[in-house]
Amino acid sequence: MSRPTQAIIDLEALRSNYRLATSIAPHSQSIAVVKANAYGHGAVPCAKALEPLVPAFAVASIEEAIELREAGIEKPILLLEGPFGFGEVQIASEHDFWLMIENHNHLAFIEQCEHKNLIRQPLKCWLKMDSGMHRLGFMPFEIKDVYHKLKNSSIVQDDIVVATHFATADVEGDVFVKEQIDCFNEAISDLGCLTSLCNSAGVMAWPQAHGSWNRPGFMLYGASPFDAPQDNDRDLQAVMTLQSKVTSVRDVKKGESVGYGKTWVAQRDSRIATVTVGYGDGYPRHAENGTPILVNNQRCALAGRVSMDMITVDVTDAGAVNIGDDVICWGKDLPINEVAGHSDTIGYELMTRMPLRPPRIYINS
Ligand SMILES: *Cc1c(COP(=O)(O)O)cnc(C)c1O
Repeated sequence: MSRPTQAIIDLEALRSNYRLATSIAPHSQSIAVVKANAYGHGAVPCAKALEPLVPAFAVASIEEAIELREAGIEKPILLLEGPFGFGEVQIASEHDFWLMIENHNHLAFIEQCEHKNLIRQPLKCWLKMDSGMHRLGFMPFEIKDVYHKLKNSSIVQDDIVVATHFATADVEGDVFVKEQIDCFNEAISDLGCLTSLCNSAGVMAWPQAHGSWNRPGFMLYGASPFDAPQDNDRDLQAVMTLQSKVTSVRDVKKGESVGYGKTWVAQRDSRIATVTVGYGDGYPRHAENGTPILVNNQRCALAGRVSMDMITVDVTDAGAVNIGDDVICWGKDLPINEVAGHSDTIGYELMTRMPLRPPRIYINS
């Protein structure tokens, strides 16, 4: 027997969520975003599971892209933040990595490579516009000029995708999204270019913004980007189940405390189960008393501070609970967003901060 704390990764759920993204946006191609180790799920196994379905992947850095290539992934891979140096442009051309061109340095890299005759395979470029997020991208008034510069470059492929990113797509009906869409459409109006606007929230709630390409990430892992339920999010399936087991059980008397800092005090005689999962395993240290957790598939409540390797749970109302009983921190029957909501964060952070300590167990590959 080894320590029972594991992240079960359901690859069929991953594929099903990808199919959902494509069925919601049937006229768009969907690039699968697998940055940050596929949001903590394991980039290589997730990309392998998705590769037969997807036209391309997206990651944040060339290291993440190279990891996929070295593992045998052959589909194109978009570098969402573009090249971090001139040398990365050459590597991109050799490995069929697509480049997001989002600032004047990026443009200069391309011009330098053209000038020095360094590129053999023409580059596929995406061109990022800042339509209001004010984080990355060329300003709307610059877009035509930059687009034509790329278009005229002998080392850039013709089918340039102009992209933008929403600041508030997770807020249903938000007027700022509409302003960003209008700004984008106006700036590209006579370019006749390919387009890409939507992350997961855009895919799910903003059909008018579906472009030639969408860029779903979070939804592929089966969690909703929205606080409020949406029509199409009930078909998402959690890909990760973080599970563990009860390793100790004890009774505490009313008035006694549990754990570091004595932050939980029994309001009645209580039964406490200790579970071998902690912040060293990705369970958030910020999880407050009362955070839901499943013990033998029954909802129980976190009692006391999260330790590095352990948590303590109030199982007073959960019937007989014994050492070795099953615990689920999040998964199909307990959305990661719910745990995040009790931990002052979002499901995105819990996923991407998952350390390697809990082994990933891949099922339904
Ligand atoms: C991460 C990222 C996405 C995916 O966003 P989700 O909200 O996870 O779907 C899409 N586009 C860009 C530019 C990104 O950086």
